[in-house]
Amino acid sequence: MFRSADFDAHEEVVFATDAMTGLRAILAIHNTSRGPALGGCRAWTYETDDAAVSDVLRLSRGMTYKNALADLPLGGGKSVCLLPTSGERPHDFSAKAMFESLGAAIDRLGGRYITAEDVGTKPADMLAIRRHTKHAAGIPPEHGGYGDPSPFTARGCFNAVKAAARAALNRSDLKGVHVALQGLGNVGYRLAEHLAQAGARLTVCDINGDAIERAERELGAAVVGTDEIHRVDADIFSPNALGASLNADTIPELRVGAIAGGANNQLATNANGEQLAARGILYAPDYAVNAGGVILICGEYYGWERADIDRRVDAIEARLVTIFERAKADGAPTSEIADAMAEAKFQVRRAR
Ligand code: NAD
Repeated sequence: MFRSADFDAHEEVVFATDAMTGLRAILAIHNTSRGPALGGCRAWTYETDDAAVSDVLRLSRGMTYKNALADLPLGGGKSVCLLPTSGERPHDFSAKAMFESLGAAIDRLGGRYITAEDVGTKPADMLAIRRHTKHAAGIPPEHGGYGDPSPFTARGCFNAVKAAARAALNRSDLKGVHVALQGLGNVGYRLAEHLAQAGARLTVCDINGDAIERAERELGAAVVGTDEIHRVDADIFSPNALGASLNADTIPELRVGAIAGGANNQLATNANGEQLAARGILYAPDYAVNAGGVILICGEYYGWERADIDRRVDAIEARLVTIFERAKADGAPTSEIADAMAEAKFQVRRAR
């Protein structure tokens, strides 16, 4: 474990259980050299416990990089709740009770870890967590929080697409720019709306028929299958579904000048960043692009003014311009430049 690439010198990893509520959670704190570790809670049914450990460690490490690059006064951490399968679930299982006992586990960390929403958790779950700890953000507005972070994530993604269009296509606006957009969920659909409003032409895909039908009707989007989207002859590819959509199989088939989207962990491996650079495709590093949501969460936790939050989300565009310029000057992949810029902002610890 200690030498595995996923572990990467985590400061602390806690396994929390509660037989009363069925809680089985892993809380990972990767690095707190910039401040308390903030990262959402993913609630998921994992195939194996090892898969859950690997997931939480990779996500937690990623949050250190995302929070540092976005200049937030935060370290990186994450938690996962291992949901029981329907066969394992006791008849009196209550997600609310489970999240309440997760709140108690988070509180025992004394503020070194702050949670928020992620895949499988919503603002109401944060309220349950808040029953036993104040170290949770992403609270519904009617309870004094800033609510769903995805509109802010989508706005940051839109800024990123603009930066990528300027750098790769020499375009000062998005009129007529063709974007192939994968995933029309909370982030992807809102990003599609921004793009349509700016005059971009959209080709989209999703596994959810309702989302596709809405994009056709409201945004005039063309639709392709989920296995075709990366092959669309377009200007920009925008991944907004799940991770690893840029891999050894898809990269040779891309027909775009740039990639900018909100999904986490878009590159299947680090080598994929080099592959994209070698093909001359400009990659906007995912964690630089999708920081808008965590900026809002951080602002809620520290009580920042909305104007400060807006300014920080707008700064995503300029940060990407810097990444693109440095990558060009150094002849290095943008993914490596982003990692180096992030590592300059926190105390890197390597396992011995
Ligand atoms: P979501 O679940 O609302 O949306 C995901 C969408 O992708 C869904 O519409 C789903 O049907 C679709 N999808 C799933 N598999 C697909 C496939 N194979 N092809 C095409 N579409 C597929 O999630 P979200 O909150 O919009 O997050 C999207 C991505 O952005 C995730 O990778 C998430 O980790 C990342 N992200 C989200 C936020 C946020 O604020 N919500 C912040 C940072 C990063």
